[in-house]
Amino acid sequence: MIISSDFDSGNIIFLRERNGQDIDLEIRKDSNSDFFQWFYFKASELEPGTEYSFHITNAGKSSYPEGWKIQNIPFSEDGKNWKRVKSHFQNGILSFSLKPIGESAEFAYFVPYQLDRHKKLIETAKGSSLFHNHIKGKSADNRDLDLIHLCNGKEAKKKVWILARQHPGESMAEWFMEGLIERLVSKSDSGIELFKEAELFLIPNINPDGSYLGNLRSNARGANLNREWDRADPERSPEVLFALQQMDEYGVDICLDIHGDEDIPYVFGSGAEGNPGFNEKLAEIDSTFRSNWQEINPDFQMEFGYDRDDPGKADLSLCTNQVSQRYNCFALTIEMPFTDNHNDPDEEFGWSPEKSMKLGRSSVDAILSILPMI
Ligand SMILES: [Zn+2]
Repeated sequence: MIISSDFDSGNIIFLRERNGQDIDLEIRKDSNSDFFQWFYFKASELEPGTEYSFHITNAGKSSYPEGWKIQNIPFSEDGKNWKRVKSHFQNGILSFSLKPIGESAEFAYFVPYQLDRHKKLIETAKGSSLFHNHIKGKSADNRDLDLIHLCNGKEAKKKVWILARQHPGESMAEWFMEGLIERLVSKSDSGIELFKEAELFLIPNINPDGSYLGNLRSNARGANLNREWDRADPERSPEVLFALQQMDEYGVDICLDIHGDEDIPYVFGSGAEGNPGFNEKLAEIDSTFRSNWQEINPDFQMEFGYDRDDPGKADLSLCTNQVSQRYNCFALTIEMPFTDNHNDPDEEFGWSPEKSMKLGRSSVDAILSILPMI
């Protein structure tokens, strides 16, 4: 039996094997940071039909230990189709077992979204007649940071920004972007309507280093990018600096920042209501967007989520708050569950890439519905 994680998005430390069937593992910390929770590894040279139990022995010390209580683990035996295996969290150890059909299996905190798929996504966007420009930034480790500008050729008044994976372990955010981009380039009716009024600026993965390195929340320098928007730095957080420079150049009327949440088993939004510049108009756009989206796709809901910020108490280092304040625009953080949507539970797949993509597709209609208010 061999455990490996030396590949794109991989993260695990092999500790020991007991009785040939119990495997003790640890999650490695993010680069230059104490965060850890994301893992992704492959087990190979397995005996088909034998039950193996995997134990992540430092799960209780991870960044969001409460999340393990509701988390069943995504696994795949062919690298393509992912299901969930029951997991148990006891005495700080996360355990799950599998009787493999074949000789290998892989396990991850969420279904990974790797660089080769990212590259295909960028090519899909570039192949569209709506493609206008591919603006390349650079990450701290000099990886490409892709910004795709889509428009119908005529300059539109409204600039819509959607970015994902500030927290690289939240791979559902890039599955969301894939659904969104496919919908946009398919020239659906609402897609065509949208481009009459708006241009889109899309950053499907704003943290390519952290994604490749198998981090949960940090970039290669250990920065939590979603705490850098009031202090973006060319050494520490060039990814955020790049996004802000481009936003300054083109302007922002709507911004969605796509995430996953470890603890809350629902899809929800988190707004800029604590900003000093938050006003009645922004509040009305915010609540209209949320209730319309809920009607369009009930996976999005408004009952569960984070506590709302008190007026004037917003943390302006967060993307949503900084962007809303800086451009006096509507901005919203979108959170999807790692585990499942408890309004529509699915024991076999949990919250999945398919549901993330569906949410991404449906966001087009929700954005379209508020354009007259912008
Ligand atoms: Zn996040």
